[in-house]
Amino acid sequence: MTPNIADAKAKLSHLDMEQNPATVRNKSRDFFWYSPVLKDAMDHLEADFVINAKSEDEIIEILRVCYAHDVPVTMRGGGTGNYGQAMPLAGGCVIHVAKMNKVKEIGAGYVVVEPGAVIKEIDDELKEKSGQELRMYPSTYSQATIGGFIAGGSGGCGSAAWGALRDIGNIKRLRVITMEAEPRILEFTGEELHRVSHAYGTNGIITELELPLAPAYDWTELFVRFDTFRAATEFAGAATAEPGILVKLASVYAAPIAHAYFQRVKPHVTEDDHLVGLMVAPHNMDGLVTLLERFAGGNVIYRSDDVIWDRHPGPMYEFGWNHTTLRAMKFNKGLTYLQVRYGSDIEKVMAAYEAFQGKLHMHLEVMREGAGISFAGLPIVEPMDKDALDQLVAEHEAMDCMIFNPHRYTLEEGGRQSTDMRQLDFKRQSDPKGLLNPGKMIAWDEPDFDYADMYSYKNIRAKPETAA
Ligand code: FAD
Repeated sequence: MTPNIADAKAKLSHLDMEQNPATVRNKSRDFFWYSPVLKDAMDHLEADFVINAKSEDEIIEILRVCYAHDVPVTMRGGGTGNYGQAMPLAGGCVIHVAKMNKVKEIGAGYVVVEPGAVIKEIDDELKEKSGQELRMYPSTYSQATIGGFIAGGSGGCGSAAWGALRDIGNIKRLRVITMEAEPRILEFTGEELHRVSHAYGTNGIITELELPLAPAYDWTELFVRFDTFRAATEFAGAATAEPGILVKLASVYAAPIAHAYFQRVKPHVTEDDHLVGLMVAPHNMDGLVTLLERFAGGNVIYRSDDVIWDRHPGPMYEFGWNHTTLRAMKFNKGLTYLQVRYGSDIEKVMAAYEAFQGKLHMHLEVMREGAGISFAGLPIVEPMDKDALDQLVAEHEAMDCMIFNPHRYTLEEGGRQSTDMRQLDFKRQSDPKGLLNPGKMIAWDEPDFDYADMYSYKNIRAKPETAA
């Protein structure tokens, strides 16, 4: 199947097509470079052409033409994905949806939006018009789109209260376009949502989303300092688990992260201090302080409604989730990271903390899970090559710590290393030629892949120096 790029471009030339090669290159890239492994594998990749879509009708037209000409299609929202999700492995067309950014309807407890709306902008409008806000957002709040979050993200600020993005109830409805001779428009609710949420746009294009809302608060942001990592972790866990206290963000930064990498925090901590970063509903601050009094040694060093610093530290969510890694990488480009699920057992977190001393610095995010909580980890990892990273992953797995490997570009390797049959079955119906974001779903290309080493998509564009 050889794509006929020239004819597809000619048929779509009346649309808003990027002509500047530098823009085409920029819009073909995301935060893949976060991983030294992905940087090496993907740095040369670029689309053949980019179209800025303005409407669902335009998306349908692009898909129809690309299908007829065997042209791969990769969607792009804000381009902040850190698994190379939005990188066009086989070239083809990138559809940028930044212009599809309307908030279409706001109701009691829900919002209907277009996929290219930037998440913070949706929240700003929601707060102003209805006193409500989205339940959760990635720490890339001010750049990421809502479509990109649902198709590529997993949770974030708000997960301490509401769990993971894919937990039941966190998405209400998705409108999806298929990649066929005549693209279909489908509406998904309930179990059907799992077909396309966190599917990297490999089996359908999301053109409208209905999401649940929560009351908006002027969240109180805090840094609480502890002498030990255990005490910090226990407090963050307890605060998140406490039913009467509404916590939106609970991050734990083992020493010396705050001192070494948080520039505006540094004057207020030592390199031995372990820090908890929190966002708490303002009416629950009394409860939070009461809880803290039960934990010997924890003291509040910053409180956005009271203990103010000369230099504002910036929004609390931009310390958490993958922003912790970003801050560390600003000091040392060689540093990297892992994404780990420790589950609810704090002793497993402590065992990992002890086992990996010298190799990584622990950074945790506490999430609600079912009736309890769980610990997700985004540890900052000392500079190391692919083999050493693979070894570190294996050591985690040997301790029963699940890795969502951020040094891989496929859904399976960045997930649970297994096929999601709901996504695969739907791809069979929605993308019969396999043209949507090709190379990202192993189960489609190579169902017997054994995960012994990194998957390498057979049609990935060759690096220029190795091209025939
Ligand atoms: P993009 O990167 O543009 O796209 C993501 C994926 O979705 C791609 O596969 C793309 O093809 C697909 N896609 C985009 N739009 C559509 C559509 N309309 N239909 C179908 N598929 C589509 N992630 C989290 O979950 N939580 C975090 O807290 C978090 N923090 C981050 C911090 C940093 C510093 C960085 C670099 C990344 C972080 N991420 C996080 C990852 C990423 O920012 C989020 O997943 C974000 O929501 C992606 O949104 P985006 O608009 O940039 O998507």
